[in-house]
Amino acid sequence: MKEILLLSGKGGTGKTTITGALAFLATNKVMADCDVDAADLHLILSPRPRQENEFWSGVEAEVDSALCSGCGTCVELCRFHALELAETARVLPFSCEGCGVCSYFCPEQAITLRDKLSGHWFIADTDYGPLVHARLGIGEENSGKLVSMVKRQARELATDQQADWLLVDGPPGIGCPAIASMSGTDYVLLITEPTRSGLHDLLRVADLVRHFKIACGVCVNKWDLHPATSALISQVCGQGGIELVGRIPFDEAVAVSIVRGMPLLAHRPEAPASAAVRELWRNLQRVISG
Ligand code: SF4
Ligand code: SF4
Repeated sequence: MKEILLLSGKGGTGKTTITGALAFLATNKVMADCDVDAADLHLILSPRPRQENEFWSGVEAEVDSALCSGCGTCVELCRFHALELAETARVLPFSCEGCGVCSYFCPEQAITLRDKLSGHWFIADTDYGPLVHARLGIGEENSGKLVSMVKRQARELATDQQADWLLVDGPPGIGCPAIASMSGTDYVLLITEPTRSGLHDLLRVADLVRHFKIACGVCVNKWDLHPATSALISQVCGQGGIELVGRIPFDEAVAVSIVRGMPLLAHRPEAPASAAVRELWRNLQRVISG
């Protein structure tokens, strides 16, 4: 089984659209949406839920008002301003960082730290194969941990069903979630767009991928919106030893397929962008198996 991770230096480059299009082409595969802060692969793949699981991560303070004397010590000590005092203390939603200071200094032992439900992760069936995805709770952090959880579950599923491919839609940027998504992957496909900022963000994420010694290639989405910058990206990638494995033209069929909630190739297989994705998939199979 080979694992392909799609990454981009920033959001909005078309990473999820291309993951959905590749999902249509690859046979015997499992898919994972590791962009847990803004998961949207399910909008294209229309999953039918098979399993829903809770994701518990971190702790938050809880005040037992029956024990609280209203002394205000916790409110004074909380540097995150996560407590307020009326007759008794109250923890403000989304503000507690779980540091435990209030609990330690409360003279009445009225504050405990309880585990926090931070989100949910799902296993679902789609017309194109199983999908593992997740939803992080509002204002929750620890998305790197949830990314690791989604990948682990997707890998187990792929191993169980002897899949040939694991396609992973990764988080944008170069932070903890992106790093977590790279663990153990065989190949990273970097999606960019033909702008100066796109090139800048591409080089940052490419540096990170090469730091972890993972093979990678680049796909320029909507390359024909600015051919000169696309040529520059191709040149810079060539100088850095990164192969340009795909160029996808701007195509209105892409936007329509997103609105209709279906992969591009299912919506308009004859569209120019669909032909470019087929070429991308051929190149990917060549570089990964070669
Ligand atoms: S420190 Fe303890 S007793 Fe004092 S206000 Fe806070 S919870 Fe209540
Ligand atoms: S655990 Fe820390 S952040 Fe949360 S309320 Fe207590 S002192 Fe504030």
